[in-house]
Amino acid sequence: MREVWIYAESEGERLHPVVGELLGEGRRLAERLGGSLGAVLASPHGSLAEELALFADRVYVVQDPRPYTDEWQSQALIRLIEDRRPEILLFGGTRRGKSLAPRVAARLGTGLIADCTSLRIDEDGLLLAELPTFGGRLLTTIACPSHRPQMATLALGAFAPGPKGAGGEIIDCPWAIPGPGTMKVLGQEPLPVDSRPLRGAEIVIAGGRGLGSRANFALLEEVARLLGAAVGASRGAVDAGWMDPEGLIGQTGAIVRPRLYIACGISGATQHVVGMQRAEVIVAVNKDPKAPIFDLATYGIVGDCRQFLLELKGRLALPGAVDEKNEGQDD
Ligand SMILES: Cc1cc2nc3c(=O)[nH]c(=O)nc-3n(C[C@H](O)[C@H](O)[C@H](O)COP(=O)(O)OP(=O)(O)OC[C@H]3O[C@@H](n4cnc5c(N)ncnc54)[C@H](O)[C@@H]3O)c2cc1C
Repeated sequence: MREVWIYAESEGERLHPVVGELLGEGRRLAERLGGSLGAVLASPHGSLAEELALFADRVYVVQDPRPYTDEWQSQALIRLIEDRRPEILLFGGTRRGKSLAPRVAARLGTGLIADCTSLRIDEDGLLLAELPTFGGRLLTTIACPSHRPQMATLALGAFAPGPKGAGGEIIDCPWAIPGPGTMKVLGQEPLPVDSRPLRGAEIVIAGGRGLGSRANFALLEEVARLLGAAVGASRGAVDAGWMDPEGLIGQTGAIVRPRLYIACGISGATQHVVGMQRAEVIVAVNKDPKAPIFDLATYGIVGDCRQFLLELKGRLALPGAVDEKNEGQDD
């Protein structure tokens, strides 16, 4: 039976949100291959396996009390892969996925296709992975025909989560993974969590270079609070220092698929568009009527983005609107 595996990244006692996307895409590929879906959990929290078993046919659990390091996790994965020989292995394009996957691929002497935005199986059962290249000007398709497993990291937000399965089997792999190796974890501190994360947000309002100043970007952030929206940015705004790189949307940032995306002073370069084109409704505000962002906008407003934000703020700040939109917020 040919297996498609996903690496189930965990954050403390929770699965990383990307795991839902991996399970959804993994299931789709497994069905196309006529095979089954496996999930690998290498974590101190073996109890997460039950959650995974709702979606995967088999969950391989390497329970180990050590905090995460690439070293011991790659050893666990390699041992499992050599034992069970999966056909395909998928990782999320998270910091951890991007660090762990190449290490595993290099040790196994197989290929790794990074930051894929679309995957399919051809008539010979080969994985074909699509991703933007040459600065987003070309879409390229890459395969790994002669080595196994076929490995890929998935661009975050590019894939849809899937439905639950029939209930999977949990397989404990009680191996002693040698340690401590060359890395030693001295301490762990969680990063501050954004109260309105970009990924998974229903409304995203994003600013670009056309905003013109930090003060105007702050105005956009104020409107976002009133709207209950997450804030994003184009490379233009990030390079100007108005937004942290974590807020970047596009080829080298996050891929979002909100119900509503408002682009203020963003030209619509291909590298930005790949990160937001899946939004249900796109509202673009740009003073140039020929700006490429209007080609994909549901509603286009030709005008000054500062004026637009002031107008929107005024309307949202009407007493009734504030109460309704700010429901559940402290400020
Ligand atoms: C390899 C590579 C990867 C990249 N990855 C990304 C990525 O992940 N994300 C990303 O965003 N970019 C990325 N880029 C950069 C991308 O090519 C563009 O340069 C960038 O998106 C432009 O940002 P911008 O639209 O804010 O700025 P500009 O292109 O400068 O556009 C500003 C827009 O604002 C409009 N404007 C000006 N004043 C006003 C006003 N007062 N009111 C309304 N509109 C106004 C202008 O008409 C213009 O359309 C990448 C580039 C490369 C080469």
